[in-house]
Amino acid sequence: MATYGTAGKKRYKIRYKNVALLLAILLIIILLITRGCSALFGKKENKSNPEKDTPPLSTGDQQEGAPPADGLTNDPTSQKYYSFTTVTKTSADLGSGSLVLVNNNIKFLGSVSESELDVVREKKNNAYSVKDYTVMVRPEMMEALNNMLLDFYTVTGNDGILVNAGFRTVEYQQELYDAELAETGQETSTLVAQAGYSEHHTGLAVDLTTNFNGERKQFDGTGDYEWIMKNSYKYGIVNRYPAGKEALTMIDNEPWHFRYVGIPHATAMQQYGYCLEEYIDFIKNYTIGTKFLSVTTDDNAQYMIYYVPQSRDSDTTNIYVPVKDRNTKEPYPYEISGNNIDGWIVSFLFKEGDGVPNVIGPDEDGEPVVTSAPEGDGAESGTESGTSAAEE
Ligand SMILES: [Zn+2]
Repeated sequence: MATYGTAGKKRYKIRYKNVALLLAILLIIILLITRGCSALFGKKENKSNPEKDTPPLSTGDQQEGAPPADGLTNDPTSQKYYSFTTVTKTSADLGSGSLVLVNNNIKFLGSVSESELDVVREKKNNAYSVKDYTVMVRPEMMEALNNMLLDFYTVTGNDGILVNAGFRTVEYQQELYDAELAETGQETSTLVAQAGYSEHHTGLAVDLTTNFNGERKQFDGTGDYEWIMKNSYKYGIVNRYPAGKEALTMIDNEPWHFRYVGIPHATAMQQYGYCLEEYIDFIKNYTIGTKFLSVTTDDNAQYMIYYVPQSRDSDTTNIYVPVKDRNTKEPYPYEISGNNIDGWIVSFLFKEGDGVPNVIGPDEDGEPVVTSAPEGDGAESGTESGTSAAEE
């Protein structure tokens, strides 16, 4: 019995040890589960609730740190002013939109089919002419070009602008590049972009030249044409390769090459004196979590602009867009453009303009300006001298 007794005591001792061990293990397991769960729930909450009013406070993703939207401030550049909805983009969208940055180092990620483009010859007004039916641009550039060149004609009475080039295929760009190297004997070109690295692939760029009675001249942006250099931003168009920015654009000054970026962005680039390379970089200072860039256009419309980096762990990125009405979730009118590198630029119309574009006034002699496009179709001479056909 004593043996049993001893054995019994021993068993008890062992049991106490086991219990202590078990408790310790249990405690560790409980700790692990609680931590795991909170991490899990945190993630789950964000994923399962994409239409949440406010950006998550802290999710570990790129939009962390945004304050709750409670109308806590009168400052519309602060995210506290807004509630948000979300729009999802995938990395395939990086190459689409009016702000894609394409240059000698950044290949165009997007693709443009000719069915998306307007034939300038078919859509243009009579204030200018176009090389031939092959010149095509995206509809947003088409509209901006029509408005700008009609106002240019109205102000100056000059209808000598000729649109010499628009969208180019990669194959055609390769031909131009090869021809340029053959002609210059150089190994690279500072005037013609390598195939795939030309803005002309985006359908958002045009080259202008001038045409009077069949005589073509390079568009140099002087004389009457200074008006275009000074006013294009009001139509959302920028001179893409300005003098003084050659080190950034990697292209020589080209007064004839114009690019559509959209009115709020062209206005901001004008106000800050930035070329597109600088602007795309600058806008990264404005994010969900910091504040919006406020831009007031010439017709007193107010836009808010910000950058959303591409998600690092996923092919899709949730983009927070402010809503006008918390109940209906109707967003402010917005546009999202990929930057063709690593994220998206969002712009939304915070306050509508007064609809007065402020571009037409009496000319320098005080003569009243004409108000309609000239009769006829401008000078269409069919053949092209090729003055700047090879230029970027
Ligand atoms: Zn060009």
